[in-house]
Amino acid sequence: MMCTDALPGRLHPALPMLSSLTIGQAHQKLRSKEITSEELTRACIAQIEKVDGTLNAVVHENFERALEQAKNVDAKGDYAHPLTGIPYLAKDVYCEEGVLTTASSNMLRNKDYIAPFDSTTTKRLKAVGAMSIGKVNTDEFTMGASTETSCFGVTKNPWDTNCVAGGSSGGSAAAVAADECLFALGTDTGGSIRQPAGFCNITGIRPTYGRTSRFGVMSMASTLDTIGPMCKNIEDLAIVLEAIAGHDPLDGTTSHEAVPPYSKNLKTDVKGLKIGIPKEYFIPGMNQEVEGAVREAAKVLENLGATLHEISLPHTEYATPCYYVLCPCEVSSNMARYDGVRYGHTVTQPKDLLEYYERVRSEGFGPEVKRRIMIGTYALSAGYFDAFYRQAQRVRTLIKQDFEKAFEQVDIILSPVSPTPAFEVGKNSSDPLAMYLEDIFLSSQVMAGIPALSVPCGFSKNGLPIGLQLMGPQWGEQTILSAAHAYERSTEWHKKKPVIA
Ligand code: GLN
Repeated sequence: MMCTDALPGRLHPALPMLSSLTIGQAHQKLRSKEITSEELTRACIAQIEKVDGTLNAVVHENFERALEQAKNVDAKGDYAHPLTGIPYLAKDVYCEEGVLTTASSNMLRNKDYIAPFDSTTTKRLKAVGAMSIGKVNTDEFTMGASTETSCFGVTKNPWDTNCVAGGSSGGSAAAVAADECLFALGTDTGGSIRQPAGFCNITGIRPTYGRTSRFGVMSMASTLDTIGPMCKNIEDLAIVLEAIAGHDPLDGTTSHEAVPPYSKNLKTDVKGLKIGIPKEYFIPGMNQEVEGAVREAAKVLENLGATLHEISLPHTEYATPCYYVLCPCEVSSNMARYDGVRYGHTVTQPKDLLEYYERVRSEGFGPEVKRRIMIGTYALSAGYFDAFYRQAQRVRTLIKQDFEKAFEQVDIILSPVSPTPAFEVGKNSSDPLAMYLEDIFLSSQVMAGIPALSVPCGFSKNGLPIGLQLMGPQWGEQTILSAAHAYERSTEWHKKKPVIA
């Protein structure tokens, strides 16, 4: 464990508290020379050293290098971009040149895989002067909803350490909520940004598929994977998204669609905004506290001038089953590259090549990854392809059409993020189906490729955060960011901070 004494330099008197600033606040202070980027970075490091023993969010530290970068930024003294001099943490699937990146899997951890190149996103952040201070925990290769499949063990929820922080970007969410960084990067294949954001009382956005580049981020399911920011408020989310979004020649699925200046365009006015409330997301027997908080949030938006409309997304019930056919199919193909030949875990003295593969993959991968490889390979095999894969693709089209029809009537759609607040560590870990059902409100948007975000909207009586989900049409990030911003300005939920025991 790194100790701050080993890092000589001027310490700010209010050191740990600096890490609780939002990007917007820190930017002001950097520009007015009230603080330096080095102080900000040291504050994050100090907070990591203080609380991460309890939370287990940070899995690889990059402190020395981040401090070097911070000093360089301070020496130049030009903080023109809102992210210049801002420290962040990246999920352990973002490749950064010269930095340990392991997808929280023994497959890469056993060989201390050091990425030889930068992901487009971390490169773009580096170019504007933001510094990565380390890597945060994830479910193995992002497969899971609790970080319990990580080879580093579970990340605890800062609001209640008996509960999970969510997943797979649970490390990112806990780190932001606990002020270990100013923002974090996550990935959302089937809800992994929105669910942990909701569980930890922070904000996170899954952008439209093709809005952000996947280059250099270890793939799970290539037609579903998106990458996005997780922040302390909506303004910050807009700032980071703007910096990382846009066409990338290295990712052929990114769009040439212009990136709006999201942060400048943020409105606080929702007058006339038509909000759809899908009846399929509010079902009898649902968690009362979640339903209450989300309906209350809808009222807040109505009081601000929006109109509420009941709508139907009839194929909603098929979204999660459909996801759990398509996702494993793509997983089975993407995981094929981990064969122990080019990189990753290796074994000695195999009898032959087949035994080499068998041993590498059975030792390197954990049970959830193996489960998905098996399901995916089965669903893609000759006799079952039509019955499973092709059928799921058809259902995917129907789900997409549900949204297209709905967005002819309304501007955005509102729902809960998760069926319950954060669950206890171990509750679902031996029941994959129960874990998959955690994604019930999060799979449809993935099938349709549309943007969706999570914003804090209340707490359970046990003091656990509840998240509100806003969905927009393709390329509709600005509309949901503005609505969430308006909501956030009329509420105090996002300002609440956990006390970490
Ligand atoms: N819980 C989902 C899964 O396990 C989501 C994962 C993700 O978005 N990376 O597939």
